[in-house]
Amino acid sequence: AKQQGKAGFVRYVDGMGEPVLAHMQLGAELRRALDNDEFRVVYQPIVRLDSNRVIGVEALVRWHHPSRGVVGPGDFIPAAERTGLIVPLGRFVLRETCRQAAAWLDEFGPDALKEAGLNVSARQLHDPDFVSEVAKALADSGLPCERLVLEVTESAVLRGPQVSRALHELDHMGIRLALDDFGTGESSLSLLRAFPAAIVKLDKSFVDGIEIDDGHPAAADARQAVARAVIQLAHALGLDTVAEGIESPEQVTALRELGYTLGQGFHLAEPMTADGVSRLLARQQAV
Ligand code: C2E
Ligand code: CA
Ligand code: CA
Ligand code: CA
Repeated sequence: AKQQGKAGFVRYVDGMGEPVLAHMQLGAELRRALDNDEFRVVYQPIVRLDSNRVIGVEALVRWHHPSRGVVGPGDFIPAAERTGLIVPLGRFVLRETCRQAAAWLDEFGPDALKEAGLNVSARQLHDPDFVSEVAKALADSGLPCERLVLEVTESAVLRGPQVSRALHELDHMGIRLALDDFGTGESSLSLLRAFPAAIVKLDKSFVDGIEIDDGHPAAADARQAVARAVIQLAHALGLDTVAEGIESPEQVTALRELGYTLGQGFHLAEPMTADGVSRLLARQQAV
């Protein structure tokens, strides 16, 4: 079957719903795009739920395609992973984020922005050079290691001893590791014993509808139960939590009642350019 993707890519989908042919063409295009510097990093603020202050950012990659406009990561990260191009693309995001976070630290001082996070694919963690590239990005930018957060998903963490070794090395370097999309995997809880996480990010699927109390509260109750279990576990293990995908003030209230102090989502702040973050930090410093 032939489908028109969101970004205008024609996708050939097999029985499993997987794009088959698209990623071959996409692979060549991604290679060209890397050579042409078509990738940009935007930053979504991570915000204190009590004061609305920005305490961190998550870097999110965008592709500024010459004819298709801005393409989101959902339309090219899977192909970048399959073709291995995620390794040079991820290196770009890493270096750019470290450089930018160091510039913010320089401009706004140590209390303005505590940390900058970025997403790391399993494929990157498998790359034997990954740990030394992180060390080099920190050294070249001057960003202190404790200000960098690397976000990994549960499925990436479960990829075997090589990945596990890399994660422990990063942890020993003082870099903070966040478990992304927490609660969506199959072994979230047992995973935390083996994984040197500093942060868990409660997945958006547990935030969606968490505020609903319409006389049919079963679904909201289930989400609240997960959200509550996650924060109790995080407290017990001494981990920070970030609730993801917050889209309404009612969700903020519900999450605060459960004990969440940090959040991320369109209601709080959308992903923005580095200049947008600079303006936010400047305004924040003025009050
Ligand atoms: P993620 O790591 O879970 O990032 C959060 C995604 O949720 C972002 O989508 C963000 O724009 C979106 N989001 C934030 N708040 C809200 C909200 O309130 N409502 C809704 N509906 N969405 C919200 P984005 O930028 O399209 O990124 C999608 C995924 O692509 C990311 O999910 C991450 O897994 C991956 N990704 C993005 N940048 C990179 C990168 O540099 N490297 C790698 N390996 N993966 C990346
Ligand atoms: Ca993430
Ligand atoms: Ca996430
Ligand atoms: Ca996700």
